[in-house]
Amino acid sequence: MQNEAREITLTVKADYVSAYKSGYPLLSKESILDWEKVEQEGSILTLVDTKNKFVAKAYYGIQNKGYGWILSLDKEEKIDTAYFSKKITDAIAYREDFFSDVTTTAFRVFNGEGDGIGGLTIDYFDGYYLVTWYSLGIYKLRNKILEALQKSVSFKGIYQKKRFNTKGQYLDDADDFLFGSKAPEPLIVKENGVNFAIYLDDGAMVGVFLDQRDVRRTIRDKYAKNKTFLNTFSYTGAFSVFAALGGATKTTSVDLAKRSLAKTQEQFRINAVDVEAQEIIVEDVFHYFKYALRKKFLFDIVVLDPPSFARSKKHTFSASKDYVKLLKEAIGITKKGGIIVASTNAANFDMMRFSDFISKAFKELKGKYKVEERFSLPKDFRVHEKFKEGNYLKVVFIRKIS
Ligand code: SAH
Repeated sequence: MQNEAREITLTVKADYVSAYKSGYPLLSKESILDWEKVEQEGSILTLVDTKNKFVAKAYYGIQNKGYGWILSLDKEEKIDTAYFSKKITDAIAYREDFFSDVTTTAFRVFNGEGDGIGGLTIDYFDGYYLVTWYSLGIYKLRNKILEALQKSVSFKGIYQKKRFNTKGQYLDDADDFLFGSKAPEPLIVKENGVNFAIYLDDGAMVGVFLDQRDVRRTIRDKYAKNKTFLNTFSYTGAFSVFAALGGATKTTSVDLAKRSLAKTQEQFRINAVDVEAQEIIVEDVFHYFKYALRKKFLFDIVVLDPPSFARSKKHTFSASKDYVKLLKEAIGITKKGGIIVASTNAANFDMMRFSDFISKAFKELKGKYKVEERFSLPKDFRVHEKFKEGNYLKVVFIRKIS
């Protein structure tokens, strides 16, 4: 086959052997002695120690995280269609309760290393499967993976997204439809009884971030009733829709992207929420904070869900550097007794450091707070037990006391 790369033997440095043997899944650049032996991404690697004894099988694929992922600790394992079928079937069995829940028809069915193959995710949208490739290496293995997926599930259609960079260019603009029949545009899926409009073939993002499911439900069921709700970095307004359905008196959604206006209106409409009663603002969040402070606006609930890194005309925002500042802005326009939902998907700091940011922000404003609850990834975003840093999501419900 044209995409087939040959198997290559590489040597693991002595210090790293025990980590791989005990299940650590990420192949790091530093751990291998003889990278010069491998050229093509997608090559299957047999890793051995310096005495030439088997350690693991892996594939070579460059991501910002590392140089590839371990696939098996079994010397006899063949990385063929049957191998991928087994992984996919196991992943589907783990999510049995999701498949049988008629109120939620969108969820993750395969979560990278958490399901045994780093660099690959598969999401389910009411019968349609979306495969995302995170490196050229895993993309080169696509024939076997897609064959395995087609054999393992009954599907209406299969789509793909390429989330890697070749020669400085993302390939996301390519046609994302692969097999079966095309999904309607939009495809309406459900999450805890709420509708979402999904576009499987319209750029890098499909309209919803599935990892926030439990947070959205919590906002709707426990916090929103009779409250004013500010949703910053609102994208398609998913948090606002849940707040409105939970009985919020009014939602305000703020996002810089022009497309967010029509997308948010659409999400309200397909849930029979009166769009006219909601506010949707296309603006830089930092600009909006200044305006809200000047107007002395105070909200019962403020959601902060910034990208880990973003560059706008006036600001560069990096979650690890600027979250304290963002929190301080939010605290200034939150009522006493109100709630700030602070969220981040930044993988370069953990829940402990995120908690430190919260503490620092309140301290600098001489305020008091109480943490009501915390969330990380939901069950379908399965985390590898030897790779906890794969649990990138951190959400804290903070009550402002003073
Ligand atoms: N909270 C959303 C997801 C946010 S994605 C949800 O749950 O669906 C991040 C969003 O931040 C993007 O839509 C992007 O357009 C927006 N964004 C990035 N920088 C911004 C800024 N300075 N002001 C307002 N929006 C910004």
